[in-house]
Amino acid sequence: MNSSNTGSRFPRVVIIGAGFGGLSAATRLAKAPFDVTVVDRHNYHLFQPLLYQVATAGLSPADIASPIRGILGRQKNAKVILAQVSSVHTARNEIVAEGRRIPYDYLIVATGAEHAYFGHDWSSYAPGLKTIDDATYLRRRILLAFERAETEADPDERRRLLNFVVVGGGPTGVEMAGAIAELAKRALASDFRSIDPRCARIVLIEAAPRLLAPFDPSLSEAARRSLEQLGVEVRLGTGVTDCDCSGVSLGRERLETRTIVWAAGVKASPAAEWLGADHDRAGRAKVAADLSLPVIRIFS
Ligand SMILES: Cc1cc2nc3c(=O)[nH]c(=O)nc-3n(C[C@H](O)[C@H](O)[C@H](O)COP(=O)(O)OP(=O)(O)OC[C@H]3O[C@@H](n4cnc5c(N)ncnc54)[C@H](O)[C@@H]3O)c2cc1C
Repeated sequence: MNSSNTGSRFPRVVIIGAGFGGLSAATRLAKAPFDVTVVDRHNYHLFQPLLYQVATAGLSPADIASPIRGILGRQKNAKVILAQVSSVHTARNEIVAEGRRIPYDYLIVATGAEHAYFGHDWSSYAPGLKTIDDATYLRRRILLAFERAETEADPDERRRLLNFVVVGGGPTGVEMAGAIAELAKRALASDFRSIDPRCARIVLIEAAPRLLAPFDPSLSEAARRSLEQLGVEVRLGTGVTDCDCSGVSLGRERLETRTIVWAAGVKASPAAEWLGADHDRAGRAKVAADLSLPVIRIFS
């Protein structure tokens, strides 16, 4: 199928995902002779780098989410479809979104990443941080931990509630651990009567020998020092071996907590599977230097 079969004036570019990748592709095509369709499962573009601020009550969700229609409203050659894409038929040049078939001449897939738990079923104990729902869920868990500690009579349970464990010392884990420490030791410091939030224990666990592994070692060291100044306990070279509703295990050591934040791993969206593309263990499609897939070229 091509654009002439469906009445389009110009070749149709369908973009799945209105994150940074999908939106910048759409806006770059603003003056090009294409009909652009952006399909996203949400009606807003999310600024993920500030999710941690929502998760720690520094910002509200509306501060980091902008309507996709608003962003592309003035772009005459672009339209937006709110739908969850479930598959791509490369042989027919169509994507399938909630039962609807959307034809394309060119397809851009920019569906981002998801949490990875390395084969473990830990997501209910250790929620991650990728979406607005994740951030508001974590915010509720963190704030309720302080509230429950305030009225908890059992000292062991109170300690468990005031322990916060962040797993993964990449940028998200570093930001989350720092933000929880600031919340406990500054923002909430004088808001409670039975507990002292400044006594909260925040532990950041990283399996590698340093934080922020892809960055220069001097930055890893600076991040570690800053976190420790905020009162975060940084545990390097330590892998989590189990998670449950009352804590994490680090080999034979046990850390009791009611709040675990998972920032240890991501995997790609199922895009490579949709496309039948060659991919690595994390689901990342193997692309050429121009980000195209050989398989797409065969069928389109
Ligand atoms: C907590 C956090 C902090 C970060 N901090 C930084 C930072 O400080 N600096 C930095 O450079 N990067 C940071 N990043 C990384 C950065 O946000 C990502 O690299 C970037 O968002 C990736 O853009 P993307 O367009 O590939 O995917 P995304 O932004 O994830 O967008 C994917 C889009 O696809 C949509 N989608 C997915 N699946 C479907 C489907 N099946 N159907 C329809 N729509 C779908 C989603 O709704 C989403 O809108 C951070 C990420 C996180 C999670």
